[in-house]
Amino acid sequence: MFKKLRTAMTATFLAIGWAGLVQAETPAQYTQEIAPGVYSYGGGNGYHSMFLVTDDGVAVFETVNTDHSTKLLEAIRSVTDQPIRYALHSHNHWDHAGGGKVFQDAGGQTVMHTLAAEWLAAHPGRETSPPDIVWEGNLREIEVGGVEIELHYLGLNHGLGMTVFLIPEKRVAYIADLVTPNRVMFTIVPDFNIGEWERTLKEVLELNFDVAVCSHNELPADIVASGCTKGHVEENLQFIADLRNAIFAEFKKGTGAFEIPAAIELPQYAHWAHYDDWLEMNVWRMMLDLFMGPYPWLPDSQG
Ligand SMILES: [Zn+2]
Repeated sequence: MFKKLRTAMTATFLAIGWAGLVQAETPAQYTQEIAPGVYSYGGGNGYHSMFLVTDDGVAVFETVNTDHSTKLLEAIRSVTDQPIRYALHSHNHWDHAGGGKVFQDAGGQTVMHTLAAEWLAAHPGRETSPPDIVWEGNLREIEVGGVEIELHYLGLNHGLGMTVFLIPEKRVAYIADLVTPNRVMFTIVPDFNIGEWERTLKEVLELNFDVAVCSHNELPADIVASGCTKGHVEENLQFIADLRNAIFAEFKKGTGAFEIPAAIELPQYAHWAHYDDWLEMNVWRMMLDLFMGPYPWLPDSQG
């Protein structure tokens, strides 16, 4: 298992390392209009951002890191000269919350939920910067050029302060980390609360959108524009249920706990990226959750 894990992590780091080479070509080529005035930007580094262009400025969703944001800004400039108004951060994790300074330097304000901002103030990342606007509660609305953006904090699920963004009039959403189309989930992330994640996904299905940009997806480049949909949210929910049921089935058969991860196969997902190298990690993570209880947790007064 550890060898497999190391192989998977090496592959991930290699993928991130390769990004610079791939991405260096032209940021515009990773840019697609997914709805009128709304663009997906996938930097070729495994991370996808989004931006909204209006007659009075641009809003950016997910800055990732300095290199990604620098190229994202270049991609935006290939589409419009409108000023940057806001860069919206989804959650606290360093690998998503870096790069905000690129847009602050470009004249924009960065925005983050208070739970993410407080964590980052205590644990600043190498490429994170303090946000200009910090918000509390479950819903905040921001307007750019007459277009409303809704910021939904749906409670605990992954990391802290996880925000799902919705542009109702475009019927578009931005979803980080919670929905990963065509990819086995990266459940080894310790602060993924699986039960709350399922609850959140059901709430995401209630939001009014037809297409979303999902931060990590393995959708073919030519269909990103019709990309991440509620069908993918449902698939993620089904995968979690199937994984849990497969573990319970092994419990019932009397399979020893340490033999269960290697014993489980879910062939209906074999075509998903990282099925071979990550499925076993998924089983370990789910099994630990079943043994030890959910993590993380916040008292209601702070959640
Ligand atoms: Zn994350």
